[in-house]
Amino acid sequence: MIVPGNTLGILGGGQLARMMAMAAAQLGLRTHIFAPEPNSPAFDVSAAHTISAYEDEAALARFAASVEVVTYEFENVPSATASLLASLKPLSPNARALAVSQDRLAEKTFIARLGIPTAPFAAVASEAELSEAVERIGRPAVLKTRRLGYDGKGQVMIGRETDLSASFQAVAGAPCILEGFVPFEREVSVVAARTPTGEFAAYDLCANTHRDHILDLTQVPAGVSEATEGRALAIARAMADALDYVGVLAVELFLVEGGNLVVNEIAPRVHNSGHWTLGGAATSQFEQHVRAVCGWPLGSPRRLGRVEMRNLIGEEAGSWERILAEPGAQLHLYGKAEARPGRKMGHVTRVFPETT
Ligand code: AMP
Repeated sequence: MIVPGNTLGILGGGQLARMMAMAAAQLGLRTHIFAPEPNSPAFDVSAAHTISAYEDEAALARFAASVEVVTYEFENVPSATASLLASLKPLSPNARALAVSQDRLAEKTFIARLGIPTAPFAAVASEAELSEAVERIGRPAVLKTRRLGYDGKGQVMIGRETDLSASFQAVAGAPCILEGFVPFEREVSVVAARTPTGEFAAYDLCANTHRDHILDLTQVPAGVSEATEGRALAIARAMADALDYVGVLAVELFLVEGGNLVVNEIAPRVHNSGHWTLGGAATSQFEQHVRAVCGWPLGSPRRLGRVEMRNLIGEEAGSWERILAEPGAQLHLYGKAEARPGRKMGHVTRVFPETT
């Protein structure tokens, strides 16, 4: 049994770990952050940190010995790291959730087996397989590396005229998945939590707008019908149950014509599209995650109004003074020294009275 005063170990030291550590502190827990980058944003707000490579077994063992439970802020935790830690301390979400979300082919296969709609897909490991897959799935389509892609990185759009040989070269021959292009109306996401006893709580569906492949704006409610929202939440629950999932997870979906939903991907962690819950819901996704991985009861996911969350990317964080002066605007800055283009520096949440 995890109790206040215990230590939560977190792999990764970015803004997600930082906000998780602050939520843990509120509940009387200490945190120990393990990350390879010196000056990680989460170090500022945690009781202890280790700067080491994820492959450093001795450092991982020392880290595990200093904590009661381990979680992470990113899905690309190496599988050897996950299995070593899981042999020493409870690791949540579990290794299966990591394996499924690390590999787009395993992920799509898992989702499709549950009878949940995905884009049509095929494994591609050679130029010949790419031709066959395009033949079968049709154009337009998207070629994605199976591993290590995020925010549109490792992706090639295959249009009517696109040369397949050049496309395969663009992904440097890495193992890939070809997906049929989904003509979506909107991108939405479910952020939800599940505990070891199967307690489940989902936040309201979020509508997400991207700019340059990076999340720009999240709006809640998403403005979809109750039936569509109910289906999205049921999809998230089916996946969480199938994975025996513990913690917060996010499911990214495409809303297509007729209110139908197609799952794009799952993230086994707190998620940028859930940042609005910090100040916009009765319990933030960070607190919810901490509660879940500790095996504690979940908090209420109730929304406190109509909520908008806008990311502050790169130089946008320079407008912090103006945001501070705006009544009701909730400013969150991640303490990153350098505002590189495309870097998530902070976010601002605005909660408005619900309009009926
Ligand atoms: P991902 O890295 O899979 O989340 O993809 C990044 C973005 O590319 C998504 O948020 C979509 O805007 C777009 N995208 C990815 N896959 C597809 C697809 N099969 N059909 C249409 N758009 C896609």
